[in-house]
Amino acid sequence: MSAKRTLPLLAQHLDEVHACTRCPDMIGPVVTGHPVASPVLLVGQAPGPREGEFGRPFAWTAGKQLFKWTASIGLDEPAMRARVYIAAVCRCFPGKTKQGGDRVPSPDEVAACSEWLDRELAVVGPRLVIPVGRLAIETFLGKAPLADVIGRRHRGSRAGRVFDLIPLPHPSGASTWWKMEPGATLLGEALKLLGSHPSWREVVLAAPPSYPAPPPPAPRAR
Ligand code: SF4
Repeated sequence: MSAKRTLPLLAQHLDEVHACTRCPDMIGPVVTGHPVASPVLLVGQAPGPREGEFGRPFAWTAGKQLFKWTASIGLDEPAMRARVYIAAVCRCFPGKTKQGGDRVPSPDEVAACSEWLDRELAVVGPRLVIPVGRLAIETFLGKAPLADVIGRRHRGSRAGRVFDLIPLPHPSGASTWWKMEPGATLLGEALKLLGSHPSWREVVLAAPPSYPAPPPPAPRAR
């Protein structure tokens, strides 16, 4: 589908996502990226406590680390936001656990939000999907140790689309997986695979989008 046809569909889709109130235990606002027609789609887990006030995903410390990784293979934060479609398993902040960490979304919440992700996969039609973090990886590849799936290229299918999958670990500073072996080596392998993937290369070499992404709707408290 051409960018001219895809972008209005995505803009309309994101308006609907921003109005979503399906999950009673989730904390708004709904956080999404821009409508971007791209062969590359990145899937995060869920926004943290600060993303809502910025109105965009990966707006805080985990994002700084993620965009450091992507900049090392050609796409810094502005390029990522303009040229890669950024989706998520869940689009609202799940809240904190009693222990102080971010709550992992429940299976019902994942299922509720997966309808939005399915529609994005169907409309964007990516050739490369990058699941970031355990929850996003499990959504596509099932439960498996991170060391078995990161640093490898997989084939996946969903919502009538078939694509390559190159998973990345969660870039949170609280995660030690990618700082220690074998995580550090496998992260390096994953970035090498991403940087040489034809769809990633296409996005790196692309001229800035001819249809500038409109700003996302203003965040709303629920
Ligand atoms: S997490 Fe997803 S499905 Fe649940 S309320 Fe937020 S946008 Fe809607």
